Formats: sequence, structure tokens, C-alpha cells
Amino acid sequence: MTQISIVVPVFNEQESLPELSNWISRVVNDHGFSYEIIFVNDGSTDGSWSEIQRLASLNPAIKGVNFTRNYGKSAALDMAFSKASGEVVITMDADLQDSPDEIPELYHMIVEEGYDVVSGWKKKRYDPISKTIPSKFFNGVTRWISGIKLHDFNCGLKAYKLKVVKNIHIYGEMHRYIPLIAKWNGYTKIGEKVVEHRARKYGVTKFGLERFLNGFLDLISVSFVNRYKKKPMHFFGTLGTVSFMSGFLITIWLIFQKVYGLYQGSKVREITDQPLFFLALVALIVGVQLFLTGFISEMMTSNNSRKADYNISDQVNLED
Ligand code: UDP
Ligand code: MG
Repeated sequence: MTQISIVVPVFNEQESLPELSNWISRVVNDHGFSYEIIFVNDGSTDGSWSEIQRLASLNPAIKGVNFTRNYGKSAALDMAFSKASGEVVITMDADLQDSPDEIPELYHMIVEEGYDVVSGWKKKRYDPISKTIPSKFFNGVTRWISGIKLHDFNCGLKAYKLKVVKNIHIYGEMHRYIPLIAKWNGYTKIGEKVVEHRARKYGVTKFGLERFLNGFLDLISVSFVNRYKKKPMHFFGTLGTVSFMSGFLITIWLIFQKVYGLYQGSKVREITDQPLFFLALVALIVGVQLFLTGFISEMMTSNNSRKADYNISDQVNLED
């Protein structure tokens, strides 16, 4: 069995690729590891794909997948996870900000120390302040929501047991939450390693504030879906019950008022003329609708197969 699969998402990183693949190969060869490098070209508009093909033609351990367009880092990682065959799978950014020198220690932590996931921590970070400040905030909130005590969820350098990556699926901006998703799936031994970080040597960053916000929205929906995907009725049914019961209680109150008024002999408005009656009606209808939504979700989840959200146009040194 191959010992290490190194997975690298690539979006317009042509200049970095030769240096990166040489560096990785040198480190793993020095330590005598059997390995593969899987580059996923995520719709680059520069010569990244030709570069990957060229490197793959020189070294059979270098493999490549070419997306038809830019699907995002999560899709690229998801694709590579499905192709990976190494006992330990290590993800790494293509821009030379992560150091391949960390590979042996990450491998050791997974295999010898038995971690399911080891996440890199860029303790000394070489990024502009416009990235590091939102990042601190993001990490704080993610720690709080997930209960996982990592300092640096977004670090591109992470290592996994093979079975972990085979059992999780990521899309959108979810690559930031892989440790969290792993934990939900029962892979709870999650570790952290301080890793060397470097300034970007070539090209520019692809992640701005907008993707940060999308990441937060993904976290909310992912947490929500994770919690209710097997039991949507628990969510919709609870809301539906609250709504329906409010409508019901208001109606009882209106009837009580009417009857009491008649009993007292005073003149009381028709129930249907009361403004509260309108509110009760809406609450009753919304309640029923929420229940129906719950039923539909239950029916859908029972035959819900995941569909791939990317397309490949080409690949090298890989079978289908
Ligand atoms: N990346 C990708 N698809 C995208 C954006 C980025 O595959 O749509 C890759 C990119 O080529 C790099 C990694 O994801 O290998 C991290 O991107 P970047 O260095 O821009 O992020 P930063 O380090 O600035 O957070
Ligand atoms: Mg980077």
C-alpha cells in the first residue's frame, strides 16, 4: 500500500508547481516513503494544467485531475480524496506557503500516535493583516460552535487517515470545517501541529472577505443539516406545532370571549371580525404548511443519494 497521498488543489499556480513537486519528492524520497502527489487543477486560466501534465510525464507518482471549470477548493479536495490511495492523506496548498518538510512528522502523528486528523497551525503566519484578523475571529467562532480546540481551522496543511477522507464529502466553502465534519462522522481523535508558514512566492491569494462570509453561511447550514438531515420532521414539526398551537389557543380565547360576552348579555363582535382572528388563521395555516414541509423532507431524505458537483475533462496517471 502507498504510504502517503499528497493532495494539492491548484487554481492559477503555474509558477509554483515545479518547485513544489520537486520539494515534496525530495522530502518523501529522503525518508524512503512510497507516495503519490495528486494535483487537482480547479479550472486554472494560466498554464497550470500543462505544467501538471508535464510533471506527471516525468514522474509516475505525480497524478493530475483537470476540472472543466473553477469549482472551488472544497470540490478539488473532495475529488482528490476520492482518488487517494495512501495510508495517510496530506493536503497542502500549491502556493509554497505550506512546507513539505512537515510531511514526515504529520505521517508519524497519524500512523504512530493514532490521530484520525492532524491539523496544521500557522503559529507564525506570513499573510497580510486583512487576512489574519478575520481569521482570528473565524477560528474563535468555529472553536465555540464545534467544541474542537484547534487554533487554525483554515490551515491548508492537514493530514488524515485514509478512511476519514473516504467517508466525508465536502462542497461549497466547507474545506475549512473538515475536522468538524470528521468529528461528526465519528473520527474524534483530532490533533494539531505547529507548522512552518511562508509568504506567498508567486501569484496572488484567491480568498477574500466574501469567501469568509460564505464560509460562515456554510458552517451554519452544515451544522443545521448535520443535526436534522436524518430527522427533518423534528425541526419542521416543532415549528409547525408551535405555530399551530398558537393559532389554536388564540381561537379558543376568541370563542371564550364571545361566549362569556353572550352570557354577560353584552354585545360582542363576531369572532371573524376580530383582528386576532386573522392572526390565528395565519398561525394555523403556517403550522399545517410546516408539517407538510417536514413530510416532504422526510420523503426526500429516504432516497437521497449525493450527486457529484464537479466534472472532469481529463486526467493523467490515474484510472477512472
Ligand atoms: N484554490 C483552489 N480553488 C480556488 C481557490 C484556491 O484550488 O477556487 C487553491 C489554491 O490554488 C491554493 C489553495 O487553494 O493551492 C489555497 O488558496 P490561497 O493560497 O489563495 O489561499 P490563502 O493561502 O490566501 O488563504
Ligand atoms: Mg496561500
